[in-house]
Amino acid sequence: MKIFCVGRNYVDHAKELNNPIPDAPVIFMKPTTAILKGKDFYLPDFSKDMHYECELVYRICKNGKYIDEQFASKYVDAVTVGIDFTARDVQQNQKTKGLPWEIAKAFDNSAVLGKWVDISNVSHKSSIKFMMQKNGETVQQGDSSLMIYSIKKIINYLSQFFTLQQGDLIYTGTPAGVSAVKIGDKLEGYLESEKMFEVEVK
Ligand code: ZN
Repeated sequence: MKIFCVGRNYVDHAKELNNPIPDAPVIFMKPTTAILKGKDFYLPDFSKDMHYECELVYRICKNGKYIDEQFASKYVDAVTVGIDFTARDVQQNQKTKGLPWEIAKAFDNSAVLGKWVDISNVSHKSSIKFMMQKNGETVQQGDSSLMIYSIKKIINYLSQFFTLQQGDLIYTGTPAGVSAVKIGDKLEGYLESEKMFEVEVK
């Protein structure tokens, strides 16, 4: 199983971090040891600036390569929301040196995953709304129609390089509103009006 992530996929988030709008999807990966489901998140020692990034996550349901955009939706069977935890200080240091991001983004428990919703039960597939609350206050709101690269385009792009396999996950990027967490914070992710995850920072 592979976990793909897309960076800078919302214009408003790219701008808040002073990143350019990409001319192709920005792709990175996390290992399976990154998945955190139904458990609390423990702040690791190596960062003093741990950011949440709430994102729509899609699940791949069959194997494929060179997948045409018009058939891409057949490769997805479920959706949820999750968090791409990012050690922003570590990432900034890596970016400055032109080094890979793994130690800032692919560490243990960095990929919060909500419960799965069957994609056939989602009414507006091209405009899926999601949001995250921190301590009861809405801090991020997203809509899949605002993604620079749609899930179909992402699948098409990824499959030029990687064989997509049943069970692979795709984190599709975060909208604006990212910020640091501290011990005691409670993070709750919603797809439309339904709660998908609840994580406490410890
Ligand atoms: Zn992200």
